[in-house]
Amino acid sequence: MNNKINFLVNEKKDKLIKFTQELISIPSPPGKEDDVRKLIKGEMEHIGFDDITIDAIGNLYGSLGNGSQIIAFDSHMDTVDVGNPENWKHEPFNGKIENEIIYGRGASDQKGGLATTLYALKILTEIGIPDNLQIIFVGSVREEEHEGLNWQHLIEVERIKPDKVILTEPSNLQIAIGQKGRVDLKITTNGISAHGANPDQGINAIYNLLPIIEDIRKLQKNLHIDPLLGKAQISVTAIESSSPNINATPDKAIIYVDRRLVSNESDITAIEQLKNLESFKTIQTRIFIPEYTVQLNSRKKFTFKSYYPSWIMDQKHPFVQQAMGVYREQFQEEPKLKYWPFSTNGAATKGIFNIPTIGFGPGKEEHAHTPEDQVAINQLIKATEFYIRLIRSFTHS
Ligand SMILES: [Zn+2]
Repeated sequence: MNNKINFLVNEKKDKLIKFTQELISIPSPPGKEDDVRKLIKGEMEHIGFDDITIDAIGNLYGSLGNGSQIIAFDSHMDTVDVGNPENWKHEPFNGKIENEIIYGRGASDQKGGLATTLYALKILTEIGIPDNLQIIFVGSVREEEHEGLNWQHLIEVERIKPDKVILTEPSNLQIAIGQKGRVDLKITTNGISAHGANPDQGINAIYNLLPIIEDIRKLQKNLHIDPLLGKAQISVTAIESSSPNINATPDKAIIYVDRRLVSNESDITAIEQLKNLESFKTIQTRIFIPEYTVQLNSRKKFTFKSYYPSWIMDQKHPFVQQAMGVYREQFQEEPKLKYWPFSTNGAATKGIFNIPTIGFGPGKEEHAHTPEDQVAINQLIKATEFYIRLIRSFTHS
């Protein structure tokens, strides 16, 4: 069977490369996935997916097989923007190949992973999907903006409940089993405005924030270092204020804080930690987690808060062990497990809903979001083979 898989993957190699190039050639910033979704939907129809659906926020999904165990593959369809085009040596929406490497925006993060997933599923329909499985492919939206929002919608509104999730984000062909989380915080403080000619008569809201900012800066040095996920982080990322006009002392000031969370930290513990700082005890502040609303159609809205929990899969978890077994057989070496430095849809699937989740994908993390965005053809082939072997490994389980 393994020789047959290898043969079929190589037989489809040219089409897989072409499909990856096509995906790259269509710009798909968050919320504007329409064109790329059309291409992916066409491919899903060709493969023979059942019940192909586009949900109210734009996620595209469909299923193969009718077994009782549901395995979901997640590939986000959006990419970050190009930035300054002058920094690109290769045209970002061309998918040019040089020395067996495909270049362009999204090559690594994660149009390569999306293409390999669909080709793996295509080959699986030819050699047989295990009877006990139903496979759901999700082309998710807006991951680069609000990772996990897509899966909150899929689970809470679309009622998709997979037993296991495979994220196809770039992992340089290694098995990823966790990531840091993050929460956005908005801290406001009030003052009393006074004429700029008599500032002492008022309370300057910006001055109120100074000791708070200083305490946050000191806190950064003392945050917890997690043995698996690395150091927790905090930084003030933006300041706003308002006053009747620029010749009056401000009566309101706001800072935005980016807080990266490691294990045993949550939105609640991060806020509690701030409230225990000296400045927060003496100056009146309000701390919020900003909420975002996605307009669905003329009436419906989907609102969620800007909290993306960290997650870790136990190395001994049967799903991790199963993936490691498949890896050993394919690569003939011991797998190195990794924790992603960035946040993914796992923040929802594992972080919020506790569904066993692993990551595996072609492309190197260091190329993601850069003008060097690229994926090696060799990695596309190996990832396709890994997904097929992983699904086939459910046959007797
Ligand atoms: Zn990504």
